[in-house]
Amino acid sequence: MSDQAVDYHPMWDELGLDLPTHDALLEAVGQLFGDAYLTQENRPTGMDYLNFVMSEVHGLRIKELDDFRKSGGKVFGTFCLYVPEEIIRAAGAWSVGLCAGAEFAYDEVEQIMPRNTCALIKSFMGFKLAKVCPYIESSDLVIGETTCDGKKKAYELLGEIHDTWVMELPQMKRPEDIAMWKAEVRELVKKAEEITGNTITEDSLRAAIKEVNDKRRALQRIAAASAADPAPISGKDRLLATQVAFYDDVPRFTQMMNTLADELEARVAAGEGVAPRGAKRVLVTGTPMALPNWKIHDIIEKAGAVVVGEEMCTGSRYYQDLVPEDGSTLDEMIDAVAEKYLDINCACFTPNKGRIDDVIRMAKDLGADGVIDLSLQFCGLYEMESHGVEEAVRAAGLPVLKITTDYSMEDVGQLSTRVEAFLEML
Ligand code: SF4
Ligand code: SF4
Repeated sequence: MSDQAVDYHPMWDELGLDLPTHDALLEAVGQLFGDAYLTQENRPTGMDYLNFVMSEVHGLRIKELDDFRKSGGKVFGTFCLYVPEEIIRAAGAWSVGLCAGAEFAYDEVEQIMPRNTCALIKSFMGFKLAKVCPYIESSDLVIGETTCDGKKKAYELLGEIHDTWVMELPQMKRPEDIAMWKAEVRELVKKAEEITGNTITEDSLRAAIKEVNDKRRALQRIAAASAADPAPISGKDRLLATQVAFYDDVPRFTQMMNTLADELEARVAAGEGVAPRGAKRVLVTGTPMALPNWKIHDIIEKAGAVVVGEEMCTGSRYYQDLVPEDGSTLDEMIDAVAEKYLDINCACFTPNKGRIDDVIRMAKDLGADGVIDLSLQFCGLYEMESHGVEEAVRAAGLPVLKITTDYSMEDVGQLSTRVEAFLEML
């Protein structure tokens, strides 16, 4: 999507991508990025790093993965927060989040799965079937999880065309569920060791926990700065930081995000922001927004408001909790990883009151004037849960707007009208 000095076509060809279709995808994402991101004013200079990462999203980063694999390294692709990155890194492998945020090859997808499947699932299957995602093609193993019925069955289909391994996630958080999940994380330890040929040790897991915690701490600083009025960073830029966190080099990303956080904290001290003081502030909650899905943030911020937080997997659920770093044995550390991950509040759990508590707490901490609850169409889990979210937000004295959408741009006009009307009543 950039004017690349390097021609990456031979590398993409070697990975088995469909080059003309892939070129078309890169062009479309580049246009989307330019329209949503490069039109923003007064962005922090720290965002230059993320602009660069996006300009090389299928270039330099894929080359890094390629070099790593050619030197014997293994890459694991994941789709969900519940797959612990610490375990993968402790085995000496790299973890990459697989994009599922754009409509692609739906005609082909709908030949093998129902039309009324959520956009996230259709998107990852479309990227695979159309051979346009260098991340999945760079993944020695895709690790799925049984979070929802759609994904569970989609991984069976994916497994026919790509090495895929699925973690069984409990759907409740009772002591017996936690015990089952700890056993499942130990299965991941075995699988990671088998694929990499490396042994996970106390030292390697301790280092991985610290490294991933540092990444989450940097994102926490960016999120905390967003509580200021005027907001020092747009919601779109903060969302991009979280999206990139899933696939960038961990130490480098952490360093660059800490530099960005330094800048944001200085902006807060100077009273400098991306929107005027008093601009309407919105908290967004719901289904994750995988790259390159910036649709709702773009609509809200082009309407003059600022998104101050994301209670979602591409937001607070990803970085708000850390794995305790004081485990002294390998067993203690694996348990600590498992417990931290089971604390994530996904709608696949019942009950899932922790998510609603987080929405209310974040809305207050971030000074939100209203909440937008987002569900992907055909996602029964988040659509069902939105009733409870709406009731709780209203009871807390805040207006709430429920949006159900997908990745198409057809409803942008209609959604803009609804969002503008919502912002007027805040
Ligand atoms: S919403 Fe649930 S299933 Fe989706 S990425 Fe988050 S934790 Fe995983
Ligand atoms: S958005 Fe909903 S239906 Fe789609 S994969 Fe996530 S949990 Fe499953």
